[in-house]
Amino acid sequence: MNERQHHGIGMTSARTRERMVQRLGDQGIRNLRVMDAMLQVPRHLFVEEAFAQRAYEDVALPIAFKQTISQPYIVARMTELLLAGLPENGGKVLEIGTGCGYQTAVLAYLLPQVYSIERIEGLANRARQRLRELRVNNIKLRYGDGYLGWPGAAPFDGIMITAAAPQLPPALVHQLADGGVIVLPEGQRRQVLKVYKKHGDALREASLEEVSFVPLVPGLPRR
Ligand code: SAH
Repeated sequence: MNERQHHGIGMTSARTRERMVQRLGDQGIRNLRVMDAMLQVPRHLFVEEAFAQRAYEDVALPIAFKQTISQPYIVARMTELLLAGLPENGGKVLEIGTGCGYQTAVLAYLLPQVYSIERIEGLANRARQRLRELRVNNIKLRYGDGYLGWPGAAPFDGIMITAAAPQLPPALVHQLADGGVIVLPEGQRRQVLKVYKKHGDALREASLEEVSFVPLVPGLPRR
């Protein structure tokens, strides 16, 4: 697929992507690999067609099922924080909350192996199809409850939770490798971006900026 065939905004998107990445630099993003990934991944293909024109603005946008795609700055920031905690070769990473799959694609551009879980089946299916069309192959997607993690693929060197959790889900801590890193928005009404590092039985934590995410919801929706 080429960009021109999709959503009709074609050639402008590479240039708007460049502007987006310049803005990320102005906003304090320093990791050049992250910036390169966001230059490559066609964000407009991940949002609803009606919002494709706004895909490169620094805003969160609605996707289906009342969920949102995070604003570019937050995607960049969380990716940068995760990378900083990963081993040299990148290791194995788990994302909770696939949503439209944009963050998944950014991670897959940077890392050898990415797992991602989504609790809304319709979103999981669409993300799977979209990522297949874009030939993002180094990922495994699952429809399920991210609170439970992915025991069969554990341990993970890094875990990124892209929905707000009141506290760290214990199963995810359990599935984190020694030396591994978790990045998440923590809290309910007031949310803070947090980084946890596992050292044996201990977790070291750092709090960063305030953020605003949809909630991490336990269990699966009723059918
Ligand atoms: N990374 C996504 C962000 C989507 S918003 C993107 O780039 O688009 C957060 C997502 O987390 C939503 O799709 C929501 O359905 C999902 N989510 C919420 N609770 C979950 C849970 N327990 N397990 C898996 N996914 C969950």
